[in-house]
Parts: sequence; C-alpha cells; structure tokens
Amino acid sequence: MLKKKLKMTLMAGAGLSLALTSQAVLAQQYDYILDNGTVVDGSGVAGYVADVAIKDGKIAAIAKEIDLSKAANVVDAAGQVVAPGFVDLHSHVDRDALDNAGLENNLFQGITTALAGNCGGSPLDVADFAEATKRKGLGHNVGLLIGHNTVRRAVMGNVDKAPSDAEQQEMEGLVAKAMNDGAFGLSTGLKYLPGTFADTNEVIALAKVSAQHGGIYTSHMREEGADLLKSVAETINIGDKAGLPAHISHHKTVGKPNWGQSVESLKMVDDARAKGLDVTLDQYPYTASSTTLTILVPSWAMEGTREDVRARLDDPETRARVKAGIIDNIRKDRGGDDPARVYVSSFPADTSLNGKNLAEISLQRGRTTSVEDGAETLMELVYEGGGRGVFHAMHEDDVKRIMQHPYVAVATDGFGPTFGENTPHPRNYGTYTRVLGHYSRELGVLTLEEAIRKMTSLPASRMGLKDRGLVQQGLVADLVVFDPETVAEVATFEDPHQYSVGFSYVFVNGKAVIAEGKRTSEMGGEFLNSNHQSD
Ligand SMILES: [Zn+2]
Repeated sequence: MLKKKLKMTLMAGAGLSLALTSQAVLAQQYDYILDNGTVVDGSGVAGYVADVAIKDGKIAAIAKEIDLSKAANVVDAAGQVVAPGFVDLHSHVDRDALDNAGLENNLFQGITTALAGNCGGSPLDVADFAEATKRKGLGHNVGLLIGHNTVRRAVMGNVDKAPSDAEQQEMEGLVAKAMNDGAFGLSTGLKYLPGTFADTNEVIALAKVSAQHGGIYTSHMREEGADLLKSVAETINIGDKAGLPAHISHHKTVGKPNWGQSVESLKMVDDARAKGLDVTLDQYPYTASSTTLTILVPSWAMEGTREDVRARLDDPETRARVKAGIIDNIRKDRGGDDPARVYVSSFPADTSLNGKNLAEISLQRGRTTSVEDGAETLMELVYEGGGRGVFHAMHEDDVKRIMQHPYVAVATDGFGPTFGENTPHPRNYGTYTRVLGHYSRELGVLTLEEAIRKMTSLPASRMGLKDRGLVQQGLVADLVVFDPETVAEVATFEDPHQYSVGFSYVFVNGKAVIAEGKRTSEMGGEFLNSNHQSD
C-alpha cells in the first residue's frame, strides 16, 4: 500500500493550501521508505527485517526503524521480500528495445538491468544505439556486448573462409570502437552464421581487444549437444589465451544421447576456476530452448544469401545431404528425437503455423510424423523464409544440476516481445519468477537467498557494476518488492504472453516502474556505458 505522507502538513496545522502541501512533500528527506520488508540483500546471507529508504535514485538508508514521516511515499513491505533488482546477463532486448522500450515482460519478473547483444548478435554501432535509447526511453537499464557475428558479417559477409590480415584488423577495430563506446565485452555465437566459420584464433584475437578495455567474453558455444565438452574447453581456452573473464551463455546439454553431460561440463568449469581462471555461466530455467529454425540445418548449407540456400535445396543431390544433416540434428541434437518436440514460435510467411509443432505441420502437408518427414517439412519452412522455433530437448536433471552450481547466474535469453504477437518462449515473461516460485519455493532446488544472489550480485559483478546488485546504502536504488508466497510465472509454452505475478514494486534508478502491482508510466532505465561504472 502506498500512503502519501501528509504528516508534516498536519503538524504544520490545518488549512494549508495544496501548494504548501506539495512544498512540504518536496522537503521530505526521502522519496520512498520500504517499510518493514524482509531484506534479502543479494549477497546470499539470510534475510532480515528492516526499512529501506530511497532518495534521488540511491539507497539512502537501511535501518531497523526509519521515521516514516520523513518520506514522501511509504510502501508497506511487511511480509514481502525487498531485494536488489535482477540483472539479466543474457538478453537480446537490443532487438526490440527501440520498439517496445517499456520492456514490461521483464519488469514484471523483476529485471532492472539487462546485458544485451548476446550470442554474437548486437547493434554494430554502440554509440548510435545508446543515442536512440535516450530518445525512446527504457523501462529498465540496458548494457551492450559487441557481437562477433555482427562484426564479421559487416567486414566479410556471410562466407565460410578465414579473414585476411586486413579483415582481421578491421574486425578488431570495430570491437575496439564498440568498447570505447561503452560495450561490456565481446559476445560470440559460434553455432550461428557467420561466426561458425571462425576458428578459435580469430576469436582469441578479438577477445584480446575486449580484454584491453577491461571487457568480458561471453559465448553461445559452437555446440551444446554431442560436442558440448569440446566447446566448453574452447570457451575456457579463449578466456585463458585472451586474458579475460569467460562466460558460458545459457548453459545446457541438448539431445537425448547427451543428457547428463552437465556433470562433466561443470567439473571442467570448477577445474578451470581452481587454476585461477575466471569462468562463469548463466541459465534459463526450462527444458526447452528457443532460436532460429535453421539451427537444425547444417551450417555449410546456410552460407551466403537466401537465394544461395534455396539453390542448394533445389538441387536434388545437395538437398539429400542437407536432409541427412537435419535428420541427424532432430535425432541427436536440438530436435529431441521427435519432430513433435520442435515448435514454430514465429513464421512470418504463414503466421497460422505459430504454436504448431513440426509433426503437426507434416500431417497438415500430407506427410507422416516421422523424423524423415519432419526434415522434409523443415526444409520447406526454410525455403519459405524460415522463422524461430522452440525445441524441447533438455533433461530436467541437467537443468537442476546447472541451476545449483554456485557460478551459474539466472538469465532469460529473452527479448522484448510485442505483447500478444507470435508464440515466443515463456522465458521472456517468466524466467526469474519460475526460479523463485517453482524451483526455489516449490521444489527447494535453491534457497531464496541463493536464488536472489544468482539474480543480483553474481551477474552485477560479472558486468563490473560496482553500484548495483546489492541492497546497500549508497548503491543505486534498483530494487524489487515481492511476495515470496505467491511470486510465480504465468506464461506457458501454449500461452506465453502473460506477465508474471507477485511483484508489488519495482524501482529502476529510484523510479517506481511498477507500483501496487501495476505498471506506471515511468521509464526508469538508462543505457549503461561500461566506461562510466564507478570504482
Ligand atoms: Zn544463444
């Protein structure tokens, strides 16, 4: 409950004009007091009951009792958790932040900062993006990584070859410019085009540029299925050789034959850390992933333009080779060994396919639900322009094991969907609330304090944000207030466009973007420049 504080005017006597009342409010020492909540401060220590005061965008005071008459607004937080705002290390909001700048899907799950530009894809011009966000406003804070695929495509196009010396230098120059403009590091998507055509040394050289500017290296690795462990080794090696923190994005093991590999992959991370290497990870809490449908197509077949791809599919001999590769990927990798586990989430050429799986679409097109026929149907969809999919191909035991690792942060891998449009992965709406509700409260996979640490101080420190990620006096007032008994995700795979529940207040830079459980008109966020983070 928000109570406008009028105590000072009452003390000053009756009959004061409205103008005087607002002057009295302006004179208040604090903008807000979050009264009597359980502070879970993000460090992992046990929660404690206290009042938290906000003034001018900062956490001004934390104490057992703060005089409520000193605040313009008092939030009754009794029975609720007061925690740092959540920091999403793995975001793609750069795709839509300029269109859907409010980012409500994220605000309702407690996100106050997102690091975008992941998986090798980012705006090429970081300064341009920063300027545009200033014009549009942002619901929450956004920082950027510079994407390797973006840089490589700009310099070399979508081709399967090694860069010349001049091309390598040009790519390094673009990374350096992005870092000077405030990027937090380099991201790769070595599973995707054209990054998949790069060898490890090319990436090490680019990561060194990030290192020179104090940046990090994040990776959607080359493989997350049969060759997962080789890819973990490559990521650790890149961090080691380039001399910077290495971060494994959305850690998972896809494909039935590969389930259980997280035991070994996490051990490799532990071993690297024991040797002094700075390796961390993130994860979204679902057994399904989401990406482009062409992830099932061998990368050699996707080189060049859309017309090049179509020409390969028009040639019977090449088409047969493409099909064999897709069948392999459905059987052993992201297809989960069943076309019914591959859902279309957005298909621009025919939106009636959104939400349908590959087996259903095969039947619609006069085929069977077999893997072979699923591959035929997928080739048709690629021919028709492609789209995005949701792939149910992970095991719950791996999800839980990864979640419990102390250096795995919670992250969405989400973007800023237009509400009601297409059938995106529910992680866009329910990642943090699913960890708090389902995995922490219901299953006990994490304590509440540990879950919040993985959402706050761990990711904030990975970004080098020294003034966010903890409830501590003097830090930025990115804060959330939620009911630990009811916080939950509502979004489902069938019906994803549903905001999470449980948050009564979300503050971004001291501004209430959610108040009394409802979105306000505030655009509290700002572009975070890595070079402007306080020491
Ligand atoms: Zn990715």
